[in-house]
Amino acid sequence: MDSENKPDRRKFLRSSFLALGAGFLSGSLLESCDPENDTGEQVAVLTPDGKLVSVPKSKLSSEHSVITNAEGREGIPGRKFVMVIDLSKCDGCGKCTEACNKMHFLPPTKEWIEVLKMQDNTEEAPYWFPKNCFHCDNPPCTKVCPVDATFKREDGIVAIDNERCIGCRFCMAACPYSARTFNWAEPIKPNIIESNESIEHVFQSKKGCVEKCDFCPHMAREGKLPGCVTGCPMDAIYFGDEIEDAVTDGSGNTFRLSQMLEEKSAYRFMEELGTQPRVYYLPPYSRMYPGPEKNQQS
Ligand code: SF4
Ligand code: SF4
Ligand code: SF4
Repeated sequence: MDSENKPDRRKFLRSSFLALGAGFLSGSLLESCDPENDTGEQVAVLTPDGKLVSVPKSKLSSEHSVITNAEGREGIPGRKFVMVIDLSKCDGCGKCTEACNKMHFLPPTKEWIEVLKMQDNTEEAPYWFPKNCFHCDNPPCTKVCPVDATFKREDGIVAIDNERCIGCRFCMAACPYSARTFNWAEPIKPNIIESNESIEHVFQSKKGCVEKCDFCPHMAREGKLPGCVTGCPMDAIYFGDEIEDAVTDGSGNTFRLSQMLEEKSAYRFMEELGTQPRVYYLPPYSRMYPGPEKNQQS
């Protein structure tokens, strides 16, 4: 069956996770559902006491929405996500990596966002450079995938469908930023339910597949910021929407994107390659180096 049209298993698991993980299916919701009189689309969900029930999709609030394969591939309508990283604020603490790993149940040996020490020449002070997937608008990685397992969404996110990935690693070779890694081991699975069942699912890792920063689409769909943004104690990472012309830092301060990019001389890493990254950097004009070494802060 075409994976575009096989949302049922994923629907169930996604709904189950929501119900189990956050207790979303409250008694009041269940009592308010009358499947016999509701002719809308039905979805299977797991109740907090472990029973499978069918409820109308319309009864689930947006926070509880079920993400089908087609929705996951299309992206969030009307959005164009963008990230800005202020290198003058970054002190190399690595908390963004920690927060990302926690959100995606990654072991410490993996880093979807790496904090690199950079030095442009011997006369200049080094600086810290957090680097994740840039969700390029002209991504070489998606063009080489023989099974369309990695793709560009309408909202700008470059995603991976682990159910399609065959582990050929062509995309890893094509990415000029080394943003992708191969998962050789069984992932750490949270102790709540089977994972890997949605393109936007928080537990993306799967043995034999390629993985990378996903821009936390499950958070964006709920109007929340990615883990690295809220995890940064320096408010050095901003996330937002190019269409709204706004980005927000981890403390909740919102700024006009175009003004920030212009006034702070933003640049994109190796943009001469024509990849058109969706991650902008603000230059490290006021370097904090030597700051505390990564992982040496309390
Ligand atoms: S940074 Fe690499 S993996 Fe990410 S979208 Fe660009 S080319 Fe693809
Ligand atoms: S956007 Fe999400 S996946 Fe990407 S580095 Fe930040 S926390 Fe990790
Ligand atoms: S958490 Fe913030 S300050 Fe620390 S390394 Fe990451 S971006 Fe830099």
